[in-house]
Amino acid sequence: MRENNLRIGIDLGGTKIEALLTDSAGNEIRRARVKTPPNSYSNILESIADLLSDLSVPPDLPVGIGMPGSVSPLTGHIRNANTTSLNGRPFQADLEKNLGRPVRLANDANCFTLSESKDGAAKNFSLVFGIILGTGVGGGISVNSNLIEGVNAISGEWGHNRMPNLTSRDSERKCYCGRTNCVETWLSGPGLSRTYETISKKKLPAEDIVKFFYKGDERAVEAVSRYFDQLADALSGVINILDPDVIVIGGGLSNIDEIYNEIPGRLERLIFSDYFETKILKAEHGDSSGVRGASWLW
Ligand SMILES: [Zn+2]
Repeated sequence: MRENNLRIGIDLGGTKIEALLTDSAGNEIRRARVKTPPNSYSNILESIADLLSDLSVPPDLPVGIGMPGSVSPLTGHIRNANTTSLNGRPFQADLEKNLGRPVRLANDANCFTLSESKDGAAKNFSLVFGIILGTGVGGGISVNSNLIEGVNAISGEWGHNRMPNLTSRDSERKCYCGRTNCVETWLSGPGLSRTYETISKKKLPAEDIVKFFYKGDERAVEAVSRYFDQLADALSGVINILDPDVIVIGGGLSNIDEIYNEIPGRLERLIFSDYFETKILKAEHGDSSGVRGASWLW
């Protein structure tokens, strides 16, 4: 299917669209990025065509695209995307018409998981749960570097499970999906900000809270400590069901290095086992995992 042993992946994010051309082994050849056009579906289609043209992608090379949300198996249209101009659109059909080449779409957390499974932190493991802790919370599952989609195409979407073990100090949080107390409302960057705000009565972005945490600020330490407890609580349910060999973590909050020391001990106490071998690893390809995973879709 691939011409000249090349692969092309595109990562469609809320702020930027990035394209990566690699050889068949995943080695980078060329890369380009543009800002995501706000509120315009047709401009997004046009930007993707421009990126392929900028990278001189051979005309018949199929393209993999990672994006927020997913394709509804019922309608073939996009749903659940926080880049809302995509929702309700027949994105794949429109892209194939516009680009004149075959297109595969996948959720961005699934692309992340595929990338880390193929040649990243999880490359030596079979059953992989990949998670993104960033503006949102996503997840994907792969077995021997093959993504598991699921009959409803929602495999790995732990971010919209309900956060377990909330206490009376934790007031209810509404999620954009219409539910309350989704894991995402606690474990995303904005979720950490809200936790910090309840402790300190001050609003700070997550990255500043993490900086204060490293300086030993008492309130930031308390917020991040609650974050670790909740991350372990939420992951323990996933481990009891899936029991993955490895959990790979990406997204902005994956850069809190204490996660990898603090979470295993908590999980060991929470899961239904007398033995805990699950590896908790930081993503190897960082911000590039989305676009790399998209290139592996063919
Ligand atoms: Zn939700």
